Amino acid sequence: MSGPLPVKIDPLHLAQQSACISGTLTLRSMERLCQCLVSSEGQVEASLSFSRDASRQLLITGTIVAMVQMTCQRCLQPVDVDIDTAFTLAIISSEEAAARLQEGYEAYELDTEYLFVKDVIEDELLLSLPMAAAHEDQVACDAVMLERLKPEILEIEAVAEEKPNPFAALKQLKTD
Ligand SMILES: [Zn+2]
Repeated sequence: MSGPLPVKIDPLHLAQQSACISGTLTLRSMERLCQCLVSSEGQVEASLSFSRDASRQLLITGTIVAMVQMTCQRCLQPVDVDIDTAFTLAIISSEEAAARLQEGYEAYELDTEYLFVKDVIEDELLLSLPMAAAHEDQVACDAVMLERLKPEILEIEAVAEEKPNPFAALKQLKTD
């Protein structure tokens, strides 16, 4: 089991050393992400490598693995969503640098010396969440929906039974 990721890093310094950091981050620490999730319990495993390419562009290459719970859009019950994502970010300091950036790189603007690891991981996780989460097995969703509707169906039947039967009055007349 790996330990927690550092909170704040110096990407320039880490790139000089061609360093790689890896560790865990709790879901709870990422508020924006938690707003999209059913539960804030759990953690993510991530690793980040720091380097410079041939044109001296500072790069962060990373992977994130996590299991989160979202709301199934079919049955509205929690659904487990596996996230396994890889990314390459080009750290830039201004919009001008973004314009010069090679195609294929995702720009990450950083105007301070330090980078909060949480911010990078949270952004990437938000990008990798499915637009509409749903259980793989639609039959399971339908079963849940049916189970949820059951009390309402029973109620409708009960109301129907309570209604006086117009023929009951007729029957009464006949016997008299
Ligand atoms: Zn479902």
